[in-house]
Amino acid sequence: MERTLVLIKPDAVQRGLIGEIILRLERRGLKLIAAKFLQVNQELAETHYAVHKGKPFYEGLVRYITSSPVMAMVWEGPNAIAAVRQTMGATRPTEAAPGTIRHDFALEVGRNLTHASDSPETAAQEIALWFKPEELYPWDRATDAWIMG
Ligand code: ADP
Repeated sequence: MERTLVLIKPDAVQRGLIGEIILRLERRGLKLIAAKFLQVNQELAETHYAVHKGKPFYEGLVRYITSSPVMAMVWEGPNAIAAVRQTMGATRPTEAAPGTIRHDFALEVGRNLTHASDSPETAAQEIALWFKPEELYPWDRATDAWIMG
């Protein structure tokens, strides 16, 4: 079982896509175990995107993520990290496969709607950065046996 951090970024919130994105993750069979709606401050943005510091798009990326509220969530499931990134599509929307969120709703890499952890190590770091342990609520779902063998 894996957990992954998903952010519905400011452009997706502004464009009224929160429901659409959650719908696709729920429908896939992933389980929501934590969620919060918040305005990201400079410190959180810089820590979250520390790996990109020094890159030409870094300053714009921090401005983008702090520009308006985001929805932060933790989703759980078998292969959740790969499954969520597949549902999001490639980082560049014009390279994302049809049927993915970034293909279906975005055009530019700098406005690509979502973030999802890219490995078990970053997922653990990011979940700890965005959520306190007591804000995670694992739960038994009646349909689990029909989604996980
Ligand atoms: P992903 O979000 O798919 O894991 P990266 O970790 O490579 O992608 O990049 C983090 C975020 O930085 C991207 O989702 C995107 O919002 C932004 N970004 C990446 N590359 C560029 C770029 N060349 N120009 C503008 N923004 C970028």
